[in-house]
Amino acid sequence: MSTLEQVNVGVDSTKANEVLVPITVAKGDGIGPEIMDATLKILKAANARIQIEEIEVGEKVYLSGNTSGIAKESWESLRRTKVFLKAPITTPQGGGYKSLNVTTRKMLGLYANIRPTISYHPYVDTKHPVMDLVIVRENEEDLYAGIEHQQTDEVVQCLKLISRPGCERIVRYAFEYAKKYNRKKVTCFTKDNIMKQTDGLFHQVFDEIGAEYPEIEQEHWIIDIGAAKLADSPEAFDVIVTLNLYGDILSDVAAQIAGSVGLAGSANIGDHCAMFEAIHGSAPRRAGQNLANPSGLLQGAIQMLVHINQSDVATTIQNAWLKTLEDGVHTYDIFKEGVSKEKVGTIEFADAIIARLGQVPSQLKEVKYLTIADNTGRDFKYVRRAPMKKELMGVDVMVHWSGSDPSELARIVNQANNDAIELKMISNRGIIVWPSGFPETFCTDHWRLRCKAKVDGNTITHANIVDLLSRLSNLGVDFIKTENLCRFDGKDAWSLGQGQ
Ligand code: NAD
Repeated sequence: MSTLEQVNVGVDSTKANEVLVPITVAKGDGIGPEIMDATLKILKAANARIQIEEIEVGEKVYLSGNTSGIAKESWESLRRTKVFLKAPITTPQGGGYKSLNVTTRKMLGLYANIRPTISYHPYVDTKHPVMDLVIVRENEEDLYAGIEHQQTDEVVQCLKLISRPGCERIVRYAFEYAKKYNRKKVTCFTKDNIMKQTDGLFHQVFDEIGAEYPEIEQEHWIIDIGAAKLADSPEAFDVIVTLNLYGDILSDVAAQIAGSVGLAGSANIGDHCAMFEAIHGSAPRRAGQNLANPSGLLQGAIQMLVHINQSDVATTIQNAWLKTLEDGVHTYDIFKEGVSKEKVGTIEFADAIIARLGQVPSQLKEVKYLTIADNTGRDFKYVRRAPMKKELMGVDVMVHWSGSDPSELARIVNQANNDAIELKMISNRGIIVWPSGFPETFCTDHWRLRCKAKVDGNTITHANIVDLLSRLSNLGVDFIKTENLCRFDGKDAWSLGQGQ
C-alpha cells in the first residue's frame, strides 16, 4: 500500500498567498531516502512553492508481491499532480519484476529524457575542464519496449521497435531545446550503417527535421566512434539526440567523466506529465551511511522547479550549489586532496548549500534560468502522413531446427513451395547459408527461410503465406514466427542476408 502524505514545503509568511504546486515525491531505496531528505530540506529552505504528496515505490512494493513496484493509488497521485520527483529505486533481480522507471516513463508517455552534463573545473576534478552538453534521449522505444521471447533452445530475441512519431517527437524536442537555450549544435548518434531500417529511420528523421532549423549546426556520428569522441573530447558536443539505449549508456559516461555520476540529474518530459530524478541508481552499498552525494537528485529537482515555473527558486538553489562546490565542500565521490577543502556527508552538504542560499559563485558561471516555464515539447502534434503504397513481396519464416546441414533443411522446405512462393534463401543468425554459404559459418538451431514470389518482382498474398505455413506444418517444420517482406512506395523495406 502506498502512503499519501501531504506536506507543505516552503510556505513562508511573505509568500503565504502564493499557490502551492502539488508534486508527487517518492523516496525510493538504498541511498534514495537520504538524498531525497537532503533535497527536500534545500527546497524548503529556498521557499519552493510546492505541496508534496508522498508515495511509496520500489523494493518494498515489489517484495509485497506487486511486480510493477507501484500501487494503484500511487498512479492516481501521479496523474493528478502530473509532476513526479523520484529518488532511485532498486529493482529486485529475476522474479519477473519489471523496471518501474521504464514502466513510469511509458505509462505516462514521458518520451523525452533530458540529461545535462557540465564540468565544474577546477572545483570538481575532471580530465575534461570544458564540458557543457545535454543528452536528449528517446525514452519509450528501442530495445526498452521489453518485447523478448525465447524462440529455440539456443536463441532468445529482443525486439527493437522504432516508430516515426517517436523519432519525430524526440528530434524536434532536441532542436527546440537547442533553440530555446541558445545552443549552437545538435549531434545525432545512431548505428545506421548496420541497422539500416531502425537507426536508419532515426537518422532520416533527424535530417528531415534538421532542415527546418538551418540556424543550428547539425551533424551525425556513428555511435561507436561518436562515443569514443565523446569520452575523449566532450567539449566537441553541445546537444546530442539519440535512441534510448545509446542515450542511457552515454549519459552515464558523460556524467562520470565530468566528475561523478552523482552530479547529474534528468528530466523525463511528456505531453501531460513529467518526472525528475538523478541519473544514477540506488547505490545500495552506500546506503544508510550519510555518504551519498545528493547533487544528482537536486539537479533533477532544479529542472522540476523550472518546469513548474519557479525559475526564481531554481536559480537561487543552483547558484548556492555552485558556490558550495566552489568553496570545496564535497561529498566523498568528488572529494580530491588538493582540490577539495572539506569532506562532508549528505546532510552536511545540504546544510552547506542552505547556508549559501542567496550567494552566487565567484568563479563558476552564475546561472539565471528563464523565467517562463520550459514547456518545450508539450505542444508537438504528430501529423500522420498519407498511407504509403504497400506491396507484399515475400515472407521470412523463422524455424527451430536442430540439424546442421542447410541443404538438408532446404530439401525439406522445398517440398512446401506452392504455386506462388518458393524458398529463395536460408540464413542463420542473419548470415546466408543456402544456396551459397561457407562451411565455416557457425549455425545455431534458429534458421530464417526467406520465401518470395516464384516470378521475381511479383507480389504474393496473405493466403499464399497461410498455405505455405500449413504445408510446412504438415512436413513437421517447427516455425516460430514470420515477418512479412514489404515494399513501401516502391522501396524494398527489409534487410538482405549478410553475404547475400
Ligand atoms: P548505481 O548508480 O546505483 O551505483 C553505482 C556506483 O556509483 C555506486 O556504488 C557508487 O559508488 C556510485 N554512486 C551512485 N550514485 C552516487 C551518489 N549519489 N553519490 C555517490 N556515489 C554514487 O548503479 P548500480 O549499483 O548498478 O545499481 C544499483 C541499483 O539501482 C540497481 O537495483 C538498479 O536497478 C538501480 N537503478 C535505479 C535507477 C533509478 O531508479 N533511476 C537507475 C539506475 C539503476
